[in-house]
Amino acid sequence: MEFLNTREFAQQLDAKDKLAKYRDEFLFPHVNGKQVIYFTGNSLGLQPKRTKAYVDEVMDDWAKLAVEGHFYADKPWWDYQERFAGPLSKIVGALPSEVTVANTLTVNLHLLMVSFYQPTAKRFKIICEEKAFPSDQYMIKSQVRFHGLEPEDAIVEIKRRPGEHNIRLEDILDTIKQVGDELALLLIGGVNYYTGQVFDMKTITKAAQDAGAYVGWDLAHGAGNINLELHDWNVDFAAWCSYKYMNSGPGNASGLFVHEMHHNDLDLPRFSGWWGHNKERRFLMEPNFDPVRGAEGWQISNLPILSLAPYLASVEMFDEIGMPALIQKRDVITAYLEFILHEIDREVKGHFEIITPSEPAERACQLSVFLHGEGRTLFDYLMKNGVITDWREPNVIRLAPVPLYCSYEDMYQFGQILKAGILSHR
Ligand SMILES: *Cc1c(COP(=O)(O)O)cnc(C)c1O
Repeated sequence: MEFLNTREFAQQLDAKDKLAKYRDEFLFPHVNGKQVIYFTGNSLGLQPKRTKAYVDEVMDDWAKLAVEGHFYADKPWWDYQERFAGPLSKIVGALPSEVTVANTLTVNLHLLMVSFYQPTAKRFKIICEEKAFPSDQYMIKSQVRFHGLEPEDAIVEIKRRPGEHNIRLEDILDTIKQVGDELALLLIGGVNYYTGQVFDMKTITKAAQDAGAYVGWDLAHGAGNINLELHDWNVDFAAWCSYKYMNSGPGNASGLFVHEMHHNDLDLPRFSGWWGHNKERRFLMEPNFDPVRGAEGWQISNLPILSLAPYLASVEMFDEIGMPALIQKRDVITAYLEFILHEIDREVKGHFEIITPSEPAERACQLSVFLHGEGRTLFDYLMKNGVITDWREPNVIRLAPVPLYCSYEDMYQFGQILKAGILSHR
């Protein structure tokens, strides 16, 4: 598509956008009385207007029914999590039995590593990405130490080549080959949080499994953003948070995936609790654990219904729209933002560099921009002028033009503010 850097052109794209009506379903912050341009849905998604009713429903049921709400609420609490299986399985490309909701992201990854990281004297190494999200780094190091190993011996980080911003697939595959039968687990963020790079999960999963390892993906930036086919890719396990692209509210519950091939493997170690126990017999209070044969078998505690309520509002909205429609708009609006950035960069004569891959298959809803000029002052200028982005050291702003609620006109308007900001600082 031929793009133009004009308001009229952006408005034409909005007029043709089938998802445009969803913008009105979200609550935007305001700066100086004006609705902001929101680029940080990859950090905390906006609040859907419909969410409050879901929370109020739980509050009302609790008030009116108290303990009876477990069984007699309109959406009974004891099996509330089952409402997620259908919609979530479509979002991540899984069977309904392979997904559930529980805990928070890092906690779920720890719990899944209990099952899928069982180092032996020979097979004990973990491959992860260099400069992974800090929580993932801390988690992996602590798991390795927990098993009495040293991170220097057990963790293999895949590095970027000097001068490059992204990790090459061939380097990942080479590393897997080199580590070979010492490889116990590969665990990487499916979409890199810093650059927005999307990894070829299918190819990487197969290569690591061929080497005899388990494969897990941290999908914090993947769920609700990219096409996922976790079942068909034969991924062993995955987890994601729900407050980024899935708009379920700050710090809210995580989702997790365990492949069907592991559901009946009762020898896999796992930390257990009553909510993972055989549902027909859960309330018989028996002494021995009999796991649900499915992802729910990895649940531990009864679920925080008040935090699941906003997450349910969210997955139902995604179900209504479907990932294909979201992905289609995502690609066009991201390409339009990229075009606007190049236009402004040309007009102000070389000021920044997009470090996200330009290849559409290797990126999704995020463009990370390395600022060669003012950096932080420009970021502050944007914030003051109603553009919410985020700042990452040393000099990067991340922009996520979330297809659910960002408009093409937002992209145009952002370009104008960015240009004024750069020129005013010269
Ligand atoms: C956002 C994010 C997290 C956050 O973890 P929490 O346990 O939800 O605090 C972890 N890993 C990655 C890759 C992330 O992007």
